[in-house]
Amino acid sequence: MNIAITRTTNPKPHPEESNLGFGQYFTDHMFLLNFSPGKGWHNARIVPYGPLELDPATMTLHYAQEIFEGLKAYRGIDGKIRLFRAIENIRRLNRSNERLCVPLIAESDFMQALTELLHIEESWIPSSPDTSLYIRPFLIATDPFLGVRPSDTHLFIIILSPVGSYYANGISPTSILVEDEDVRAVRGGLGCAKTGANYAATIRAQDKAKHKGFTQVLWLDALEQKYVEEIGTSNAFFKIAGTVITPPLNGSILPGITRMSVLDLLRHWQNRLEERPISIDEVIDAANRGLLEESFASGTAAVISPIGSLTYKGKSVEINEGKIGALSQKLYDTLTGIQWGKLPDPFGWTTHI
Ligand SMILES: *Cc1c(COP(=O)(O)O)cnc(C)c1O
Repeated sequence: MNIAITRTTNPKPHPEESNLGFGQYFTDHMFLLNFSPGKGWHNARIVPYGPLELDPATMTLHYAQEIFEGLKAYRGIDGKIRLFRAIENIRRLNRSNERLCVPLIAESDFMQALTELLHIEESWIPSSPDTSLYIRPFLIATDPFLGVRPSDTHLFIIILSPVGSYYANGISPTSILVEDEDVRAVRGGLGCAKTGANYAATIRAQDKAKHKGFTQVLWLDALEQKYVEEIGTSNAFFKIAGTVITPPLNGSILPGITRMSVLDLLRHWQNRLEERPISIDEVIDAANRGLLEESFASGTAAVISPIGSLTYKGKSVEINEGKIGALSQKLYDTLTGIQWGKLPDPFGWTTHI
């Protein structure tokens, strides 16, 4: 793939690394790639970051035929730039594309686009501890048309955002509200695809929980509102009487790459592990009997986010006295150690760019 490069004549000042937050600063350039029938994916280009011009009838704006990904580039303690299991992100993007009737992108084209963009934007990868460059690849359906059908044309874009340490004041356990009205995704729907449409369904409950003082919501299954699905936009884990339990990928749960890595590590360490449906009643009952030793959420943004308390139908249970558990800490230290090159990478998860 030939990528045409137009460099900005107006580079932005870089933000203070101590105050990056999440997703509020963007780098100088972005990658674009068009799809149209006959031509396939074409017109690969890196151009100055800026607004897109879209017809108001652009299909993605009306019917949410959209897909996104999220991964990070890390500046290691050895100065080298690493990606973590990036190949899994392009594979997941293509699985989402399949679900949403969007043509697949060649793995090698995705990796080339990402690598060339990162080379141009290398100075934007922050170097303070626990900071990184968040990578947001996404796809929008671009036919100007108000009928409902798969779009014929698409635009694939990669933008980059330097982000701060998720835990500015050290890892702090979250308070979680179990949502028993709204649901996130239903089997047969879009839950297993990373698409904006899933998020639209969640913002009301998230907002309600925030206003009540909770950090996040725990999502129950849409059919019976009985089984745990996800926590916020992360995958859910519970350690009960020594066994780690996580819900299976049943079609309505997003297959997290952090989730996959946690499972790989737990198997490698020979922890007791079960991928099976787990009801909220089982979790609360285990907590009441003192058997719920740890709970955490996994995702690219926070890596491992320990759960300090769960509130369900007006009653709260505290987990591990509201402190991070030993296993959560070990998983966090191992994953972040590999990502920033502080630990060896025996699994070959990282690639240097
Ligand atoms: C992205 C995402 C996750 C986490 O996936 P990672 O690959 O681990 O970042 C979990 N749940 C939802 C709904 C997501 O969108």
